[in-house]
Amino acid sequence: MIALLPDRVWTGTVDGEGWVVRVDGDVIHSVGPRAQGEPIRALPGQMIVPGLVNAHSHAFQRAFRGHVQWTDRADDDFWAWRARMYEVADALDPDGVFAVSRLAFLEMIEGGVTTVGEFHYVHHQRGGLAYPDPDLLARQVVAAARDVGLRICLLRVAYARGAPGVPLSRAQLRFGDTSPDDAMRAVERLGDLAGAHARLGLAPHSTRAVPFDWLTQYAAFDGPIHVHVAEQPRDVAGSVAEHGCGPIEVLRRAGLLDPRLCAVHLTWPSDGDADLVRDAGASVCVCPGTELDLGDGFLPLPLRDGVRLCVGTDSHARIDVWEEARALELHGRGLAGRRIVLGRPGERHGVATRILTAATLEGDRALGGRGAGLEPGAPADFVVLDLDRPAAAGVPPLEAAALVADPSWVDSVWVGGVEVVTNGRHPRRAAIVRDAVPWLCR
Ligand SMILES: [Zn+2]
Repeated sequence: MIALLPDRVWTGTVDGEGWVVRVDGDVIHSVGPRAQGEPIRALPGQMIVPGLVNAHSHAFQRAFRGHVQWTDRADDDFWAWRARMYEVADALDPDGVFAVSRLAFLEMIEGGVTTVGEFHYVHHQRGGLAYPDPDLLARQVVAAARDVGLRICLLRVAYARGAPGVPLSRAQLRFGDTSPDDAMRAVERLGDLAGAHARLGLAPHSTRAVPFDWLTQYAAFDGPIHVHVAEQPRDVAGSVAEHGCGPIEVLRRAGLLDPRLCAVHLTWPSDGDADLVRDAGASVCVCPGTELDLGDGFLPLPLRDGVRLCVGTDSHARIDVWEEARALELHGRGLAGRRIVLGRPGERHGVATRILTAATLEGDRALGGRGAGLEPGAPADFVVLDLDRPAAAGVPPLEAAALVADPSWVDSVWVGGVEVVTNGRHPRRAAIVRDAVPWLCR
């Protein structure tokens, strides 16, 4: 048994001072006041919170950070960015996928992330020929996460077409499936990876890239289902032209709108989408950093009201889940022209609690976990946050974690009862960066 005594603990449901976090093997034994004479490891000036969950990642996109944030095109937009992203995807072989993914995962875990949802769509060789092991690249991504000690939910993407009536482009051939069964069979084959460090989910890429008769077949899937939804106005226009309704309604008709569903983005919802998603108990994964970088827009206010929200760093223009979660509230305030969006007036710590819940428990739920936080029997995944710093002086701990903290505040990160990051550093940081550099854009 390991017993840690920080100044403060937020378990995901309650917070307290002077509580001991007891770890028994890979799970939480209990959280509560120190027993008389109980041997503990004191963590003065520090706070323990559940591990952050980065619910939407394309790890390979870390390769072009800083190279696509500028352009000489006056009309640069999401679609121009996508064309450049396809070039990067085309240049990576299995070693590159491993090295760049591992770099992204290193940055995540050093920033307090203990689980990533990897929306994985680069499946095949250049030109579209399957690798001898058709799941090779998925395995490379899972191996990269395991190598740094990060838990992963591999969301195996199904990708059928460029758009309604448009075949895959040459650059999209690496993503393509030929039948709806391809993704289901891949998930079954990858089942040998499932265990303590890896879960599996299914990700019909979008209603643009996946036809309706494929979506209906995925309704039988027993696990998390993630879909890119209404990221751009063109996504909605294409859906209306093909189906007569927006993407959320298409997913509902296909039998996918329920608590398994995580709708990623939803920056351009159709009328009624907020009610549909809220009533179905589905979640929305918001990626504010990427959505601003790409000019996608903001999650509209109705979707910030009572809808289950989680966050992701998506294209990894930056990897800071603290900031992404905070944006749920702050961008909401900017849109509303008033203060307090996620919380309720008069509710003490309401805003901070909802921000932290989006960054932790809701992400875990969206990836098929229990979203229990630091409950007895739950995985011992948590972050030790250093509050002994000028920026935290005088700030209530929950508000410090939710409204001020960034990755540099992370002291240690524990995954399954193992301290993976110590003093803010992963022990193999230098080698992981060195191995990735040759694959990064320059
Ligand atoms: Zn995405």
